[in-house]
Amino acid sequence: MTRTTDLTDAAHTADASLLPLNDTQAHVELTESYAAHNYHPLRVVLASGEGAWVTDVEGRRYLDCLAGYSALNFGHSHPRLVERAREQLGRLTLTSRAFYNDQLGPFARDLAALTGKEMILPMNSGAEAVETAIKVARKWAYLVKGVPEPQATIIAMEGNFHGRTTTIVSFSDDPAATAHYAPYTPGFKLVPYGDLAALEAAIDETTAAVLLEPVQGEAGVIIPPEGYLQGVRALCNASDVLMMADEIQSGLARTGRTFACDHEDVVPDVYMLGKALGGGLYPVSAVAADGDVLSVITPGTHGSTFGGNPLAAAIGREVVAMLETGEFQQRAATLGARLAAGLEGLVGQGVDAVRTRGLWAGVDISPGLASGRQVSEQLLERGVLAKEAHGQTVRLAPPLVASEDDIDLLVGAFAGICRG
Ligand SMILES: *Cc1c(COP(=O)(O)O)cnc(C)c1O
Repeated sequence: MTRTTDLTDAAHTADASLLPLNDTQAHVELTESYAAHNYHPLRVVLASGEGAWVTDVEGRRYLDCLAGYSALNFGHSHPRLVERAREQLGRLTLTSRAFYNDQLGPFARDLAALTGKEMILPMNSGAEAVETAIKVARKWAYLVKGVPEPQATIIAMEGNFHGRTTTIVSFSDDPAATAHYAPYTPGFKLVPYGDLAALEAAIDETTAAVLLEPVQGEAGVIIPPEGYLQGVRALCNASDVLMMADEIQSGLARTGRTFACDHEDVVPDVYMLGKALGGGLYPVSAVAADGDVLSVITPGTHGSTFGGNPLAAAIGREVVAMLETGEFQQRAATLGARLAAGLEGLVGQGVDAVRTRGLWAGVDISPGLASGRQVSEQLLERGVLAKEAHGQTVRLAPPLVASEDDIDLLVGAFAGICRG
C-alpha cells in the first residue's frame, strides 16, 4: 500500500505523466478527481480485453458478464471487426453528410435487409436513435395521420429506459433519472408495462406511437406476458398508431433471435438499434422503418455530423454480416439455456427469482442474502464482472462468444456467494 500512496501523491505533481500509472488506487483517484461522478463503478480498473475476458491494471483477469450493457455482444476486440475497422481507419473516417461516402449505402442496404425494412436513418448513440424515432413519429402523426398540431402524443411504458436526453428523461418514471431536470418535454403518457387493457384505454385520436422495449433491460430484464407484443401490434393496427420497438439492448442476437420482437413473430413499424450495432468498437445507432414513415424526414429537418460516417458504416455493416449467419443468435439460445438452468437451481437459496431470455438474465437477490450491489462486489472478488440493475436485481449479459466453461464459471461464482 505504500507504493499506492506514493503513486497517488505523484499523480498530482508535474511529473505524473512520467510515472507508470499502473495501480488501481491511482486510477480510481484520478478518475474521481477529474471526471464527473455520474456513475458509481465497481473498484476495478480495466486495461485490456479479448473475447469474454478482460484484464485489469494489476494483471487480474475477469469474465465480463456486463458486456458493455450488450454493446459487446461479439466480445472484446473481435478480430473480424477490429480488422475491418483498422482497414477503414486508414482509408476514410468522416465526410459529413454534405457528401456521399462509399460505406453508407452498402451498410444502409444490408441493415434494411436485416430488419426487413425499406430504409434506415443512421445516428451515433442509442439516445439519438430514440430521439429520431420520436421526431419521426410526431411528424408522421401530423403529415400522414392528420393529428392536429401540436397535439401528438406518444405512449411509453412504466419502468422504461430509453436514454438520457432531456426529452427522453421527461417520460422516465425513475426519480434518479428525472429529478431537477425540469421543465420536462410534454406529449408523453405512461401505462403499466405488460397491461394491454391500460394501453387500449390510453390510445386516442392524438396517439402517434407506442414506444416500448420488447424486454425491459435496465428495469431488470423484465419480460412481458406471452402474447403482449402481439396485442400491442394489434392495438396499433386498429388505431393507426406506430409501434416503435427500442431494441437497442434487446436486439442483435442477445435474446437468441435477431430481435426480441421475433419471439412473438411481431414486426414493429420502427426499430431503434444501437449498442451492439457498433460491435463495442464505436458508437453506431440507427432507426429502421419503411419509406411511408421515414420519408417524413427531408433535407435539413434532422441530422448529425457523425451519423452515417464511413468508419461507423463499415463497422456496422460487418456487424450485420456477422448476424446474417444466425450463429450468434444460436449461441445466445444455447448458452442462455445453460445459464438459466444453472441459475434456476439457486432459487430459494439466496435467489428469489430468475428471468432469462437468450443469454440475458435478471437475477433477483433475496434481501436476506445481500443487496444487488454487494453481490456485484462479491462477484468481482470471484473474477466475474456484473452490475446491479435496480436494487436487488443483478443483470447478466455475457458476450455471446463466451464458452460453456465461462457460463459454468459464472453460475459457480453465484452459487459460491449463495452458499456463503
Ligand atoms: C442503452 C439504451 C439506450 C440508450 O443508449 P445510449 O447509447 O446510452 O444513448 C436506449 N434504450 C435502451 C433500451 C437502452 O438499453
